Amino acid sequence: MASNWSLCGVCDNRQMKKSSVVWCSECDEGLCGDCKKHHSISIGTKNHETVSIAEYKKLPTEVLQIAQVCKQHNEKYELFCRKHHSPCCKKCVKSHNDCKGLTDIDELIKNVKTSNAFYEIEQTLLEVAENVKRLSANRKENLNSLKDKKREIEAEIKQARTKINHHLDKLQDDLIKELMTVEQKESSKIEKLLTTLKKKEKEISEVQENIASIKQHASELQTFLTMKDIEKDIAVEEKFIQSLTTRDTSNQVNISCQINKSLLQITCTANVQKFGEIIVSSDPCDFTIQKRKNRQAQIMVALPTRNIDDLTLTLQKRINTDFSLVRGCSLLPGGRMAYQITYCIDLENLLH
Ligand SMILES: [Zn+2]
Ligand SMILES: [Zn+2]
Ligand SMILES: [Zn+2]
Ligand SMILES: [Zn+2]
Repeated sequence: MASNWSLCGVCDNRQMKKSSVVWCSECDEGLCGDCKKHHSISIGTKNHETVSIAEYKKLPTEVLQIAQVCKQHNEKYELFCRKHHSPCCKKCVKSHNDCKGLTDIDELIKNVKTSNAFYEIEQTLLEVAENVKRLSANRKENLNSLKDKKREIEAEIKQARTKINHHLDKLQDDLIKELMTVEQKESSKIEKLLTTLKKKEKEISEVQENIASIKQHASELQTFLTMKDIEKDIAVEEKFIQSLTTRDTSNQVNISCQINKSLLQITCTANVQKFGEIIVSSDPCDFTIQKRKNRQAQIMVALPTRNIDDLTLTLQKRINTDFSLVRGCSLLPGGRMAYQITYCIDLENLLH
């Protein structure tokens, strides 16, 4: 059996354990050095091709495990049933009586390695490998583009933040400047009034000093005569004080500040919950799977054909064409040939 390739099959039959050195696929057994010699000169087996055990071992296990004779009847496969896709030995054929397209298996396997079907398998495999490679490259590219995009977005977020920061800084500076201006303006109004009041205070205290001096040193007549003027002056001052209280110059000035509500909304989670939104979108892949157009689906059914590069030419016949001009040639069934010939007639010689 195919799995006993490590022992010489011939010696094994004689209850001897010898390691095999070659494998004969036709005998479906391993051969030791001695048996190999015998195998290579014996009439029945001298045309068998053998392969070294070391090489044979390299075949995939699936191949090594394939039984090359019918498991059921232990006989050589002779036919192939296309309907059931199964090889048949002489005895199997009985159960394929109604099957059309039983083909001689030797005919079918001849040149199978150079057949279109085998070539198609090789090409399809190449193509599948290429597609896997291309798809991997495509996905890796996507991986890199994602990484790049992430960096870009990160920079964008930070830039947006910087912009907001700068804007807020400017708004804050503007408001503080406004605060300074307003406070300064209001303060200077009050200070101006205070200066006026100080002046008035001085004037009034002068009048008070005068009154005290008059009271002490002036005559009755002098007192009487100046009293009218002093009364007038006092009336002016009273009027002035009166006017101050009715004008808004003595109003109680207050300043306060109302922070812009929209700005405060930023800090309120109900209004601004997120800095932004990360969106995932995907476009249909621009990658197309390559597929061979004229792929032969029915690989097993395809008949083996010979490759033109492997043909060897042999000279069959030499034909003398000196006597005429050969203008065409056809090869007919059964080895016959037909030529189209033009004769050259020397007219000048013919007329003389
Ligand atoms: Zn053999
Ligand atoms: Zn042997
Ligand atoms: Zn069978
Ligand atoms: Zn069948």
